Amino acid sequence: MKNHEDVLEEVLQANEILEQLTHEEIGDDHLYTGVHTPLKKGAFDIPDEKKKEMIAILFGEIMDVMGLDLTDDSLKGTPKRVAKMFIDEIYSGLNPANKPEVALFENKYHYNQMLVEKDITFYSNCEHHFVPIIGKAHVAYISSGKVIGLSKLNRIVQYFAKRPQVQERLTNQIAMELQSILNTQDVAVIIDAKHLCVSSRGIKDDTSATVTSFYGGQFNKAEKIQELHNYINN
Ligand SMILES: [Zn+2]
Repeated sequence: MKNHEDVLEEVLQANEILEQLTHEEIGDDHLYTGVHTPLKKGAFDIPDEKKKEMIAILFGEIMDVMGLDLTDDSLKGTPKRVAKMFIDEIYSGLNPANKPEVALFENKYHYNQMLVEKDITFYSNCEHHFVPIIGKAHVAYISSGKVIGLSKLNRIVQYFAKRPQVQERLTNQIAMELQSILNTQDVAVIIDAKHLCVSSRGIKDDTSATVTSFYGGQFNKAEKIQELHNYINN
C-alpha cells in the first residue's frame, strides 16, 4: 500500500487543472456529456482492495480538514466504511467486472407485444454533487425472438445506477444495453427521479422531480407510447 503522503501527492498532481478553476467557472449546472461514463485510461488497473485503502486515507483527510476528530469512537471507522461502501456498493457499477450476466431464452410463448417492467426502485448518486438520486425506472421491450429473465431487467437498472450519474445518461445507458442484449431497437426506458442536490441544497425545491425517456424502434410510434404510459399509470 502507498503511504499517506504518496497518495496525497498523486491527488495534488492530478488536480492541477481543477486548481485553475473557481467554483463559479465549474458552475452548479447538470451538464450531460454523452452516453459513456467519463472514465480515465486504466480506470481499473488498481485492484478494488487497494482502491479502498486509498479512498479511506483520502476521505479521512477530508474529515480532518473539516475539523472532525478522527480519534473519536464514532468517527474513526468512517473513512474505511465510506471507502468500502463506494467500491463494493454505491459505485460498484463503474467496474465492468460487476456487470450482470444475462442469459436469454427463446420466446417460446410467441408473446409479441410489449413487456413492461415498471416501478423499479433505484438509488444512484449525482456526479456533480455526490448526493443521492432516488427514483423509479420503467423499462419495456418487444421481443425480437429472445426474452430475458425479468429480474435481469432490474439488475441492469441497478448496475448503471451504481455509478456517479446524470439522469439522462442513466436512461440512455440502460436503454442501449437492453438494445444490445436483446438485439432489437424496440426498447423504452422512462425514469422519474428526485435529486437530493436539488431538494436538500442549492435551489431547495422539495417537490420537483425529473423525468427522462428513451424510445427506440417501435416505441417511437404515438400509439406505442400511449400503450406504454397506460401500463405504467395503471
Ligand atoms: Zn447534482
